[in-house]
Amino acid sequence: MLEVKELFFHYPSAKDYVLRKISLSLGKHQVLSIVGPSGSGKSTLLQLLAGLLRPTSGSIIFEGEQLANPEEQLIAGHNLIKLVFQNFKVMPNRTVEENIRYKLLHCEDDYQKERTEQLLKLCGLTSHRSKPPSHLSGGQQQRLALARTLADDPKLLLMDEPFSNLDPVTKEELLEQVMEIVQKESLGLILVSHDTRDVLRVTDKILFLSEGISLQEATPTEMYEHPKNELVARFFSPLNDVSHLLNQKGAFVRREHIRFTTSAVKGYAAQFLDATFMGDHYLIRLVNNRGDKIIGYGPSLDFEQNQTVYFSFEKADVLQFQGA
Ligand code: ADP
Ligand code: MG
Repeated sequence: MLEVKELFFHYPSAKDYVLRKISLSLGKHQVLSIVGPSGSGKSTLLQLLAGLLRPTSGSIIFEGEQLANPEEQLIAGHNLIKLVFQNFKVMPNRTVEENIRYKLLHCEDDYQKERTEQLLKLCGLTSHRSKPPSHLSGGQQQRLALARTLADDPKLLLMDEPFSNLDPVTKEELLEQVMEIVQKESLGLILVSHDTRDVLRVTDKILFLSEGISLQEATPTEMYEHPKNELVARFFSPLNDVSHLLNQKGAFVRREHIRFTTSAVKGYAAQFLDATFMGDHYLIRLVNNRGDKIIGYGPSLDFEQNQTVYFSFEKADVLQFQGA
């Protein structure tokens, strides 16, 4: 469906490339997440994919056709690939319904009516149809932005951190609704998100960007279990440095792979520091005689302060990076 080849880009005002040699591919109806530190070029890449910026070199091919550059377009942006704009571009003095209908004015009357009803229903806005956008909650505003974008009948949706201003519960609901809409409308989706849980849960593929370079493109399980380097690994969850224990540089173990026991048979000795209640688990902190902290998860364990506790991990769970 989408094929990006060796894309380079720099803003006209700057000399340095913001994106360097980015390649990626996306199949029909697939969901891709783009992640990476702030400033790594995620938003810029979405703008390029939406046809709103012109690549310095390289190509973007969608359904077998090269994307037109912004200056070759009648209306800015690609007609089948649409970036969901959040609050701006909504008409503040019109109702929700009018905001959607307005996007369909070029269509026949019957279709306008029918599609408006469809989109209201699809995006869960039917009961809010007569409200102005300012009377909607954050999640509803996002769904309005989505409904307006869908009125253009795109095949690929692009969303740039759409959930960043929402509370966790609304966010989870909205994400599920978006995934349902994407499925019902048979769309592809490219999502920029900094929430690792979203990224792991709903995506087929993840692209990790750092300073304009693609560090890794992989499925969620691949990227979580076999991250390319420490930066990618730490994006998903914190690591324990176990290099000195194994006598090899760049060896790490994720918190969930640390096991605790009070028997010295198998494990490394350390002192219990504290346990923090986290709701569904405890965060257990130990410190060894080198002063290194080891953090893992456990049920409510009744260790005592400074008690010697042994911890272990499987060899298969050690993440080994070069040059660390
Ligand atoms: P991200 O979305 O990953 O945080 P961006 O794509 O917004 O990253 O930005 C990537 C880099 O491009 C940053 O260094 C940023 O300062 C720069 N940048 C973003 N927009 C512009 C612009 N309009 N003109 C010049 N530089 C820009
Ligand atoms: Mg951004």
